[in-house]
Amino acid sequence: MAIIGGGAAGCFCAVLIKQMRPDYNVTVYEAAAKPMAKLAVTGGGRCNLSNSFACVTGGDERTSTVPYVENMFVPAYRAGDLSLVYPRGARFMKKVLSHFDQNDCCSWFEKEGVRLVVQPDQCVFPASQDAMQIVHLLERLMRQSGVDVRCGAKVSALEPDLTIRFRDGSSVQADSVVVCSGGASARILEPCRLKTEASVPSLFTFKIDDAALRELMGTVVESVNLSLAGTKFKSSGTLLLTDWGVSGPATLKLSSYGARWLAGNQYRCELIINWLASNERSTLSELSNLAKANPQKQLSSIHPSALTERLWRHLLRRAALREDCRWAEIGSKGMARLAGVLCSDIYSIIGRARFKEEFVTCGGVALSEVDPSTMACRIIPGLYLAGEVLDIDAITGGFNLQAAWSTAHLAATSLCQE
Ligand SMILES: Cc1cc2nc3c(=O)[nH]c(=O)nc-3n(C[C@H](O)[C@H](O)[C@H](O)COP(=O)(O)OP(=O)(O)OC[C@H]3O[C@@H](n4cnc5c(N)ncnc54)[C@H](O)[C@@H]3O)c2cc1C
Repeated sequence: MAIIGGGAAGCFCAVLIKQMRPDYNVTVYEAAAKPMAKLAVTGGGRCNLSNSFACVTGGDERTSTVPYVENMFVPAYRAGDLSLVYPRGARFMKKVLSHFDQNDCCSWFEKEGVRLVVQPDQCVFPASQDAMQIVHLLERLMRQSGVDVRCGAKVSALEPDLTIRFRDGSSVQADSVVVCSGGASARILEPCRLKTEASVPSLFTFKIDDAALRELMGTVVESVNLSLAGTKFKSSGTLLLTDWGVSGPATLKLSSYGARWLAGNQYRCELIINWLASNERSTLSELSNLAKANPQKQLSSIHPSALTERLWRHLLRRAALREDCRWAEIGSKGMARLAGVLCSDIYSIIGRARFKEEFVTCGGVALSEVDPSTMACRIIPGLYLAGEVLDIDAITGGFNLQAAWSTAHLAATSLCQE
């Protein structure tokens, strides 16, 4: 039995197959000099390996420095809500997670001796804060169970009869194959004629054409609403102003939700920022309260607590209001202009920029080609797919690795039941 790709999905799948069927011969073919090089750098080297999914399940948020399993809650996914974290592949992931979800995943790692913690933002990390603990665990389990890991084995093509062709001209015939070769690797499946979705970047930050906004670099606004003008794409969360434009969780989420549309638009469109994450009526009422409480104060000296003074001065300028104007003098027109800027401040996006070193793409083998109850390819017997090679991708927070673990677990289970 062959696994193409020794990343998170491939190595986890190999370990699970040997745990379920120790008599099976499992070979992992990995192009690089060592397996799991990417896993080693995930989460800034700390490996954000899963998430509580509280934002999706509506379950209680948790913070824990005690083992995850002792503090577990049972999720109930609300239909459609998974698309908040899996912009592509939500329905597919709903089925896959019903087989092996974040709790199963965290239990598995804890049973193998990895103590986990849930951060206040609901991201799950090893308590050691060290991705190498996960890499070493999977390496040890593969070694102990006799998985044959062949590094430097770059696969150039997989034939429909499961002949694996390598770049050096050699080939092997497999009885079953799990393709776990990661994003942008669907090329090797060309002979199998599987439908693929084009690969485009996801999870990036926006370059904004506004010198005054860039002057505010370093400013953090805890809770904003963002949207792309003329589309249904919107997100909420923390916004970070940078020297090139905007970043932070709200931006990354929006880039992921709108990844394909933004690519089609050459990353040029209008970004609408709602600075207080509030509707115009509530904003007007908050402004009126400020005016009533501080009639003789200057506009620049009193501002909504969610905004910094520097940002407030910038927004006053955008609303064409003088900083030294008194609150009593602002007038209904000035008030409406200010509320308009606070609720829908428009900036031009002129491109994208990378988020740290993280480069996540959407695209890959179309999900219509794969049975979500087995991970088996619908048209080629003996072929399974797992991980980022599929057209599934997530926002940040551990959801991408969870997809790798869950799809790999399902593929391994199905293979062992064949
Ligand atoms: C810097 C960075 C940080 C990240 N941090 C997080 C995080 O904290 N949490 C999270 O959930 N997600 C994170 N991600 C995303 C996450 O790493 C991926 O979703 C996950 O690694 C996918 O696992 P995979 O096994 O499908 O693919 P990969 O981990 O990419 O593994 C694929 C493997 O296949 C090999 N391969 C490719 N082509 C061939 C070939 N032709 N022949 C043989 N082998 C081949 C590759 O060398 C690689 O080892 C991060 C991504 C990056 C880039």
